[in-house]
Order: sequence, then structure tokens, then C-alpha cells
Amino acid sequence: MPSSDDDKPAPPDLPSYTVEDAEPLPRPSRRPPPPQDPAERHAGTSLVHHSVVLDDDRIDPDAAKVVRRLERSGHQAYLVGGCVRDLLLGGKPKDFDIATSARPEDVRALFRNCRIIGRRFRLAHVLFGSKVIEVATFRRNPSMDLPEPSVDDDASEVLDDLLIRSDNVFGDAHEDALRRDFTINALFYDLDRRQVLDWCGGMQDIQRRTIHTIGEPIVRFREDPIRILRAIKFAARLDLGIAPDVYDAMVGTREDLAKAARPRLFEEVLRLLRGGAAHRSMWLLWEIGAMSVLLPELSAFLDDDEATRGGSARFFGKMDAIDAMTRARGRPLEDLTLWTTLLKEPLDEWCAGERDRFRAVGEFLEPIIERIAVPRRIADGVRRISAILPRMAAGRTGRFGNTDLMGPALDVLEADLLSLGRPTDVVQKLRGTEAPTSARATSARASGPHRNVRGRSLAR
Ligand code: ATP
Ligand code: MG
Repeated sequence: MPSSDDDKPAPPDLPSYTVEDAEPLPRPSRRPPPPQDPAERHAGTSLVHHSVVLDDDRIDPDAAKVVRRLERSGHQAYLVGGCVRDLLLGGKPKDFDIATSARPEDVRALFRNCRIIGRRFRLAHVLFGSKVIEVATFRRNPSMDLPEPSVDDDASEVLDDLLIRSDNVFGDAHEDALRRDFTINALFYDLDRRQVLDWCGGMQDIQRRTIHTIGEPIVRFREDPIRILRAIKFAARLDLGIAPDVYDAMVGTREDLAKAARPRLFEEVLRLLRGGAAHRSMWLLWEIGAMSVLLPELSAFLDDDEATRGGSARFFGKMDAIDAMTRARGRPLEDLTLWTTLLKEPLDEWCAGERDRFRAVGEFLEPIIERIAVPRRIADGVRRISAILPRMAAGRTGRFGNTDLMGPALDVLEADLLSLGRPTDVVQKLRGTEAPTSARATSARASGPHRNVRGRSLAR
């Protein structure tokens, strides 16, 4: 879900995650029960079904409950996307998404614990405590309606404007599979019949552990350049290969990333850093040249190993350190820790010899904030942590030790020391002096200027 930028309203082409007002809903439509035989249900499509028994213990029981209630009410409902992919690859899904023929208002009528979200495309969220099961009505990619470009069309012109600006068109299960990004993400699992429904060769790609786009890779990346970052994330996190034509298209369309919605860029870069595969992700991002579009400051630093005297090894050492810390803790590090560690090497180079390090960091960050919508609370935290780190490494923190930035700052220092193969005693010692969480004015994730324990703003 895109993270909200504190200062700027989300651009209108982004999904909004606001809860709708509870206005009276139309009564759910009465429709005849759909055919129960999968072949009949999806007649006329290129469906291949695979009998697969996924381990029930690894399937979220609440998600299963939602699927079964929808099916019993005469709708089609499947587990879809990342959860099916992760279950088939033997991993643990982060969350369980459901796709259904039911319209959002039909879902709402079936579940009391349901809210409808989104202005552009309405989704149903079924809530079980703090857990959210997302239920989306089948939809299709509106560009499926476009005529195939003829040989007379200027191909470059056609490819130039494929960016999807609206995708709120309902469709059927087959169309919903085809609108997805990669074949491994387009598998539907039919819980009761224990079958994986596959319209685009996703099962074979799971077995071969390869990333293929659904359809022409250049077209799919031009439609939504964020998919370039998603391909990197899946390749790095799940240790998958990227098909050569997909890889070439990622290189060929990387400049389109500059056209993507900036808050989505911010969020996807974080996802590359969070999953315990930051090293591989950053390597791929650099190798395909997308880093020079998103973070030219970092890619120029990595390119010039001679001038930075082995800067790339220091940078990737830091990525190894955050991967090791993520694995050891079993959860992602704070966003602020990740961003500060990501930028630390080029930042240190930029600030070398500067007397006013705080101001210098601000100047370095300005174009990055502009390019990828880094929220102010993160940019502010990166500035403050970067300014204090040299003193922290010497074991001194002063009043900074009482702020909510202390935890992320200690993690940045730990990653730094680990990457240099140095002992981390100073971090352990400083952790002992850290104010207890309850004493801190706000959590590190809270928005607004950071404050010390007495509530005085530390923002300059
Ligand atoms: P993760 O494990 O990181 O959540 P995911 O594949 O579940 O991976 P989500 O962002 O949760 O990713 O999206 C759920 C599903 O929606 C995907 O599996 C994919 O089928 C579809 N999807 C997400 N983003 C896109 C996109 N940009 N273009 C097309 N389909 C997408
Ligand atoms: Mg997901």
C-alpha cells in the first residue's frame, strides 16, 4: 500500500485507501448460481488447471472462510497473487488476497466486518482483528480493448503512451489473470477443488523459477514502470531468474521510471530494502541502470570505484549488514534506518570536509526528495542521524539519546560497524543508555517533527 506523504496529497491517479462513507448500499444483485465445473466456468479461455494440494496449515483460516462463504453464496472466489506464488515456492505468504466475481457491495452484504475502500477501484477489506483480507472483484486491463497496433502504425508512438491511467473496469477471472504483471503472480487457487488455475504458463515458470511478464515485456513495463522494481524485488527476494527478453525490456524502459507516481517509487525502493535481499536488489537495480534514474547520486558513487576508493564494496557490505540484521530479527528494519543506510556512503563523500554537516546533508537530499517523494519525517530523520553518527561512533550521544531517533540511529551505526568487520560494543553500550520506549515522546514511525522526551521540537 502506498505510504502517505505527510505534506502532499496523493496524486489523483493513485488508489485512495479512504474508507467510504456508509451510505445505503444497493441491494446485492440476484444472479443465477454460476456453473460449478471449472471447465464450464471458464469455457472458451486458455485455462490449464493443475491439481495441487497445498498444505492447509499454511493457508490463513480466515482467508479460507471468506473464499468459502463467497462460493457458497454463488460467486466465484479464489486465492490469488503473491500468496499462491509463495505457497507454491514453499515460502510463507505475507498476506492472503482473494479475487472474486462478487461486486464490492455483494461482499459487503455478506460480511459484517467488511469495509469498502478506494475511490478509483473499490476493494472490500474483510477485517479479522488487525488482520485484513483484501477481496477484489475481477477486473481487466483496459488496454486489452485497444486494437492491436497495425504494421502501418508508428510503433514508437504506440509504445510511447501505454502508461495505465485508469484500471477500474470489471472483468472475469480470465481477464483478471491476464491484467497481472508476471506469470508467477497470475495463478488462482481454487480451495475446494484443490486446483491451481493457470491462464498464462505461471505454473511452468514457478517450476523453472523464472520471471516472465504476461504478454510483451516492453509493453507491460511501459504501462506501469513500477513493474521494473517489482521484477527486481521478486528476483532478489525469491532467488528467481529473469527471462532474457524481460531483462532486456527492463533495461530498455528504465527511463520510464521517471514517469511513475513518486510515492509509489518511494514505497517500492523500501520494499527492495526490507525483504532481507537488499544486496541482491540494489545490485540488480544498479546493473540494469534503473538506479541512475532513481538515485543518480548513488549510482555515480558506485560507478566511480577508483575515486571512492572501493566505495562499492563498502556500500554492498552495508546492504549485507542490513540483510543479516533483518534475518536475525525476523522483521524488517525501520524505514528510517533503511534510507539512512542506503544513502550513507554517497552522503559521507558529499559531506567530506564540510563544517556544517547538517546543512550539507540537507542539500544532498533535496533533489532526492523531489524525485521520489521522500516524506519529510524520513528526510528530516536522515539529516539528523547523519549529523550525529560521527559522535555516536565515539560513544557520545548527548540529548539525542533521549529522542525517538536513537533506535534507528543505533541500527545505522550497527550496520556500519558490521559492514566494516568492526566490533559493535559501542552500539550495545549505547543501547543500554537508550531511554525506554514509553519515555519517548513519540514512536519513530509517528509523523511530524521529532521531539525529545520533554516534547521540545528538535527540528531546525
Ligand atoms: P508481496 O509478497 O511483495 O506482497 P505480491 O505479488 O503479493 O508480492 P502485491 O503488491 O501484494 O504483490 O500485489 C498483489 C497482486 O496484484 C500481485 O501478485 C499481482 O498479481 C498484482 N499486481 C500488483 N501490482 C501490480 C502491477 N503493478 N501490475 C499488475 N499487477 C500487479
Ligand atoms: Mg501481497
